[in-house]
Amino acid sequence: MSAIVIIGAGPAGIRAAQTLVAHGLRPVLLDEASRGGGQIYRQQPANFRRSAKALYGFEAGKAQALHNTLEQLRGQVDYRPDTLVWNAENQVLDTLQQGHLADRLAFDRVIVATGATDRVLPIPGWTLPGVYTLGAAQIALKFQGCAIGERVVLGGSGPLLYLVAYQYAKAGARVSAVLDTSPFSAQVRALPRLLLQPGTFAKGLYYRAWLARKGVPVHQGVTLLGIDGEQRASGVRWLSNGQQHDLPCDAMAFAHALRSETQLADLLGCQFAWSALNRAWLPVRDAQGRASSPGVYLAGDGAGILGADGAEMSGELAALTLLADLGKPGNPQRQQQLERRLATLQRFRQGLEQAFPFPEQWARQAPDQLTVCRCEQISAGEIRATVRAGHWEINRVKAICRVGMGRCQGRVCGAAAAELIACESGRAIDQVGRLRGQAPVKPLPFGLEIKP
Ligand SMILES: Cc1cc2nc3c(=O)[nH]c(=O)nc-3n(C[C@H](O)[C@H](O)[C@H](O)COP(=O)(O)OP(=O)(O)OC[C@H]3O[C@@H](n4cnc5c(N)ncnc54)[C@H](O)[C@@H]3O)c2cc1C
Repeated sequence: MSAIVIIGAGPAGIRAAQTLVAHGLRPVLLDEASRGGGQIYRQQPANFRRSAKALYGFEAGKAQALHNTLEQLRGQVDYRPDTLVWNAENQVLDTLQQGHLADRLAFDRVIVATGATDRVLPIPGWTLPGVYTLGAAQIALKFQGCAIGERVVLGGSGPLLYLVAYQYAKAGARVSAVLDTSPFSAQVRALPRLLLQPGTFAKGLYYRAWLARKGVPVHQGVTLLGIDGEQRASGVRWLSNGQQHDLPCDAMAFAHALRSETQLADLLGCQFAWSALNRAWLPVRDAQGRASSPGVYLAGDGAGILGADGAEMSGELAALTLLADLGKPGNPQRQQQLERRLATLQRFRQGLEQAFPFPEQWARQAPDQLTVCRCEQISAGEIRATVRAGHWEINRVKAICRVGMGRCQGRVCGAAAAELIACESGRAIDQVGRLRGQAPVKPLPFGLEIKP
């Protein structure tokens, strides 16, 4: 019998599961992680003993509530952790369990709640050992209680930058500098929209004030020039007010906000549309969470970045919509309430984008020797040369120079490649096409066993 499946046990997926269970369904909940919670509420290994307060700070209550919900749902959902979904077609999902068992799961309806990862705009030296994304640096701390180095520099832009700096410094790591590419003036201009979520805004201010009080140097409006080092990162260079600065470090983490994990929606045949706010192609969803493909629903950051509260709301909303589509008594009032709240969050999100604007000059400034696609070792210069040879559609550029052809399937390099192609071809970023998703969406090991 076909199942109702949720992919992703983060805030969106867990709230979706809870809603379906409350209405008498028993969904299958798949997640490649071994413990539920998603990115923000990632759980530590079972034998670690840090308190929720130490792990999640202000969000401890929400994290515990979500974890408790998942615990209470056990027995009422078919929860399958350690299960990667690597392909989706013809109402069937291909999964990999515990890293070696291949299985297939037929579904009737699916809620895709696959979340996001960091958006990476490479800088020279980014492939050196000791260089991480901001999210990866946070995972090291949150999951395993490790700092990425002893003298850490954090750079890029986005709310995660200040949060990770605060979490690192609070945990006792030495944060040598925070290098924010967004100018302070942008953050001032964004104030009216940021105040739409006063609680979240206040937390941001708190992190900044805390860092200032502890003497962590914060530089705004910088241009990241590169990471130096022979065997591993040993220093960072940046430009501020026309002056070059160098700072020794033994680790650096950087990113420019987040990007949605959209490949499964793509393989499920969903239509995509350009989102200027996210500066990305996103699967289209209606206000209730339906995708364009029949039986497919989208929730959480995987269909546009809206944050953890928005993810919980959109997970519940997608589940209520699914129930209504099945002809089950749903909760139209609650649906409308969630839609309204999500619309307010969207306006706040516009404020964040204004406060941490995308560094549009990045593509112009990237040197030709810069490695953009680390899987296939493709440089900015090779991408530019492909464009100069007459190719400007991103899948064509991929076919010719292999950018995005490697193990990450463009999940890491795709955004940067699109920026370079747009810049070199003189086209707007939404005119260079969308990198099509391909299975497997994440690498598979050799020697898979077929699940009996
Ligand atoms: C690394 C990182 C750290 C973050 N930290 C913070 C933070 O500290 N504070 C904050 O406010 N926001 C943070 N964010 C943003 C925040 O995580 C999101 O807004 C929120 O978690 C979104 O919830 P979600 O349910 O949509 O997705 P997620 O929480 O990302 O959950 C998605 C789940 O889907 C699973 N998944 C994805 N693809 C597959 C697949 N193919 N097969 C099976 N399972 C899959 C993942 O393992 C994950 O558990 C972070 C984001 C990232 C990427």
